[in-house]
Amino acid sequence: MARVIIVGAGGVGNVVAHKCAAREEFSEILIASRTIDKCDQIAKRINSTKVKTAALDADNVKNTVKLLEDFRPDILINVALPYQDLVLMDACLEAGVDYLDTANYEPPNEAKFEYSWQWKYEERYKNAGITAILGCGFDPGVTGVFTAYALKHYFDEIHYLDIIDCNAGNHGQVFATNFNPEINIREITQKGRYYDNAWVEVPPLSIHRPVPYPEIGDRESYLLYHEELESLVKHISTLKRARFWMTFSQSYITHLQVLENVGLTRIDPVDYEGTKVVPLKFLKALLPEPSSLAENYTGQTSIGCHIRGIKDGKERKYYVYNNCDHALTYREVGSQAISYTTGVPATIGALMVVNKLWKKPGVYNVEQCDPDPFMELLGPLGLPWHEMIDQESPFEDN
Ligand code: NDP
Repeated sequence: MARVIIVGAGGVGNVVAHKCAAREEFSEILIASRTIDKCDQIAKRINSTKVKTAALDADNVKNTVKLLEDFRPDILINVALPYQDLVLMDACLEAGVDYLDTANYEPPNEAKFEYSWQWKYEERYKNAGITAILGCGFDPGVTGVFTAYALKHYFDEIHYLDIIDCNAGNHGQVFATNFNPEINIREITQKGRYYDNAWVEVPPLSIHRPVPYPEIGDRESYLLYHEELESLVKHISTLKRARFWMTFSQSYITHLQVLENVGLTRIDPVDYEGTKVVPLKFLKALLPEPSSLAENYTGQTSIGCHIRGIKDGKERKYYVYNNCDHALTYREVGSQAISYTTGVPATIGALMVVNKLWKKPGVYNVEQCDPDPFMELLGPLGLPWHEMIDQESPFEDN
């Protein structure tokens, strides 16, 4: 029996709390976040004596350490914002608690994400005998597990990887983001980047093409830089090319371009009548909370990996994916599919650690861990996956 602390009470925190509460491995669950009302609302929905709540500003390491020492959790699941990754890793180090997150660190005043800051904790986590699992949502997360599973069972060498991410859902809002607007818009407005024997940078959203998604059909998909590319290229040394594609509607892109053109996606403070305002933070305050989109959301997400390489000297093609239905996830836990597809893998990652399957001192990306027990739990916890071997790939020619 294990104790878990979940930091962050947004859309993803809600899913993680529901899924942890349903598992017998977890005897006590503490939901801790900046706004305690949001923790209490989640606890009320779950309605279990296992679930407790606490107010926590995770940017204050001393307070977090105190909370960890009082509650004595076996693992901390960080589903606050990427800005909190390092402070929470520091607190876990000090209190001797295993750590897991779903997105890599970003400095608040610079739109830049990379693993270097978190990889630097490797020696300290090893010496302390504790485990950190980085990027254990869907993408990053399941996409890395899918790739590790493909390598373990179907390939001698992986050469080409195309991760494809489609949200074919409709929430009825003219413009909204599916997870934290600030983090989401920072990600999309960055330059595109992919690996083709070396890193290649292109202007934002400048490369796009129609890609077929199961049960959905063709959708225009845009090449983005996504954080799992960095760790997968590092850990799978035979990769010649690795890319990430995400769908956006024309209306979404037009809105984004207008917001960018008028300066509302800027992250530097602007003086407004004597008050310093960060335009992107102000925009976040105007946009719908991602969790509020859940109630009327219809349609599906589809995320998967198209992989090509060599097995027994012959070329092999492999596609593995999950489709997830917004209305079904809302009915089950009161969250939309983007939060659900992030929260379920975070819960499974935590189960891997507390069940000692991924428990090893140090800092790891998911593809460095055994994919089999994780893949076994994906379906039962709500994200069934499907695979296609040696069928036509949309990325065969380029
Ligand atoms: P939300 O914005 O809905 O929730 C974030 C939560 O973190 C809020 O409850 C917020 O509190 C809390 N928080 C923020 N700052 C602090 C702080 N200093 N101390 C304590 N709590 C804090 O985001 P989501 O739930 O949509 O996303 C959560 C995480 O999941 C993000 O890091 C996101 O990048 C990641 N993600 C990963 C994906 C993947 O596939 N890997 C996909 C989607 C998301 P308050 O309510 O007070 O603001």
